Amino acid sequence: MDAVLAACRAALDRPGRIIALTGAGVSAESGIPTFRGKDGYWTIGAREYHPQELATREAFDEMPWSVWAWYLYRRGVCRQAEPNAGHHALVRLASQLGDRFALVTQNVDGLHRRAGSPDAHTFAIHGDISLMRCARDCVADRWPIPDAVPALARNEDVSPASKALLVCPRCGGMARPHVLWFDESYDEPRFHLDTVREIATQAALVIVAGTSAQTNLPWQVVTLGARAGATIVDINVEDNPFGDIAERSGGVVRGPAAAALTAVADHLR
Ligand code: NAD
Repeated sequence: MDAVLAACRAALDRPGRIIALTGAGVSAESGIPTFRGKDGYWTIGAREYHPQELATREAFDEMPWSVWAWYLYRRGVCRQAEPNAGHHALVRLASQLGDRFALVTQNVDGLHRRAGSPDAHTFAIHGDISLMRCARDCVADRWPIPDAVPALARNEDVSPASKALLVCPRCGGMARPHVLWFDESYDEPRFHLDTVREIATQAALVIVAGTSAQTNLPWQVVTLGARAGATIVDINVEDNPFGDIAERSGGVVRGPAAAALTAVADHLR
């Protein structure tokens, strides 16, 4: 840990952006299951689905209300959860570093926002589970899922009353969760693709926390950052491909994100 803290401090003394790149592991200590853990699986009828099969446009087109049921269950889990010390540490980093800081998160749970991370420096590159948008993309706008749509228990179906509310306010067609699915592409208007890539090319430090390195834009953040000369550090309870890059750069912390991010924020004060 000490070597990683020293590498972060040295990077801070160089010009450039300080990026925190977070994944589901940062919210695991708030009780939100990651996609890789056993709690990520979901049963529909007689079949058990892996999240990577269900979080797809293909699954939504085939069985939209079953996919909605999974999202409404998970939205309930996220609403019940509270930000943990890791989320709060990143709020402190944002206020300490001002415009130098950017938080790029794959998390859709809203916990960074609820902890107080400033909107101007926070990029939710996979969307937000509390929002919906038109399933036909008649417009890029998104809207809060109405409060009158309740959280669902496991295996509970979406009620007719909820189905009537899960519609695009503009065209009246079916709405969909505002998240990036595994068979979809990033773009700027909805997922900040160009902005995040640009920030990565200016990075002095990329602090990666709690991600399994399975998705594309996080890879670009780390590789563009490394190419720009940034120090890369990786915080995760398990080895992962970003750890291999960080081993050759600022180093790795193999432990829970909340304590490690707290130590980083304290050290960079
Ligand atoms: P992932 O589920 O693929 O991987 C989670 C990673 O976190 C793993 O590498 C695991 O070792 C690590 N981890 C688990 N507990 C940890 C802890 N306490 N401290 C540090 N690391 C810990 O998640 P991902 O890489 O973020 O991406 C997969 C997709 O899952 C993304 O698209 C994301 O939007 C979605 N997702 C989001 C949430 C959320 O918003 N909380 C939850 C599940 C999945």
